[in-house]
Amino acid sequence: MSHIIHRDLRRVPPVAVSAAGITVTDRAGRTYLDASGGAAVSSLGHAHPEVLAAMHAQIDRNAYAHTAFFTCDAAEELAARLAAEAPGDLDHVYLVSGGSEAMETALKLARQYWLEAGQPRRRTFLARRQSYHGNTLGALAVGGNEWRRQPFAPLLMDVPRVAPCYEYRDRADGQSTEAYTAALLRELEQAILAAGPENLIGFVAETVVGATAGAVPPTPGYFRGVRRLCDQYGLLLILDEVMCGIGRTGTLYAFEQDGVLPDLVVLGKGLGAGYQPIGAVLARAHIVQRLRDGSGAFQHGHTYMGHPVAAAAALAVQQVIQRDCLLGAVTARGTAFRRMLRDAFGNHPHVGDIRGRGLLIGLELVAERAGKTPFAPEQRLHAIIKGEAMARGLMIYPMGGTIDGRRGDHILLAPPFITTEAELAE
Ligand code: PLP
Repeated sequence: MSHIIHRDLRRVPPVAVSAAGITVTDRAGRTYLDASGGAAVSSLGHAHPEVLAAMHAQIDRNAYAHTAFFTCDAAEELAARLAAEAPGDLDHVYLVSGGSEAMETALKLARQYWLEAGQPRRRTFLARRQSYHGNTLGALAVGGNEWRRQPFAPLLMDVPRVAPCYEYRDRADGQSTEAYTAALLRELEQAILAAGPENLIGFVAETVVGATAGAVPPTPGYFRGVRRLCDQYGLLLILDEVMCGIGRTGTLYAFEQDGVLPDLVVLGKGLGAGYQPIGAVLARAHIVQRLRDGSGAFQHGHTYMGHPVAAAAALAVQQVIQRDCLLGAVTARGTAFRRMLRDAFGNHPHVGDIRGRGLLIGLELVAERAGKTPFAPEQRLHAIIKGEAMARGLMIYPMGGTIDGRRGDHILLAPPFITTEAELAE
């Protein structure tokens, strides 16, 4: 009997008792290969000695001091490092405890930015279908995962949505990638005009779509077009890099590969790499300057923001990524891994697409390849695959069912950056 409200109320999962490198061991002594980094979290694997040492040292010095009274060296150093390494003037950092909290923070910061600009009418966000931005009410409202949203719909603000950039599913036969991208941008412009740009705070999107579609990268030029429209109509561009940020795609931020600079960037998961709960918002200079020149304060705050031990862990993660040249490793191993997957499953009758960027990889599963026909949701394919994989000692992250009226199953693979090619082959 467990007193925890587990994700599945009818089944208690195995008890993890130890973890090291790319494996997790349960109480029965079974070992699992962590091919998904949990849910794209454990970018350095488990029990990384330098991250553990940094946490221990911080605990010995100062485990906690409330940010209403103090700042701390670990948080200051982490913020300075993130600011120095982020492109452009993404110079300001707000540290929280996870991805959803970071998304709430970004939404509120964006709203307050417009309030202080004397534009209180800007009260709505524009977002995309088939997206996930977190499970708290604001994040759920901008997200497009209908299954997660539906029970709580009466509690959520109204958010107009446009199509995601999902070439495998949505580009018509005979349509070029350029024409498909142009059509998406036309749809976005029409949505901006329909809502009235003067009512909009900003556009929210995952740079590479994670859990709701399975590692779907944007088409070339898509985000440059989005940035252009945001500039033209005065919307802030808020990119959710909770899953795809902090090196997962081979650059520190996925948007660096799309040639754009967002106004706000939302981070989580890989920031603490699973060692501590931590998320962050990066903000461009003009956002913070407006609040500084106006009311002088961001009207927000959490008890555990800027936590010293979480900041120390995240700082150590950044140091290891840089010292061990892990961004280059992610690019090389991601390419090798996709090649291995194409060799193994490229002709599989139920694998429709193998895609991704860096070590964020998706396999889309179909009942029939030519028509890209999905499996029926009641088959619960994703649940079966997860169970079968765990029974064989493999952690992967399958998703499926009906998302925004659309059926589909996929498997997300997000191994730690330290995984060797031999381990990827295994
Ligand atoms: N945004 C994206 C893209 C995510 O993948 C997630 C989590 O899966 C979140 C936000 C929410 O983060 P958290 O689960 O840390 O609250």
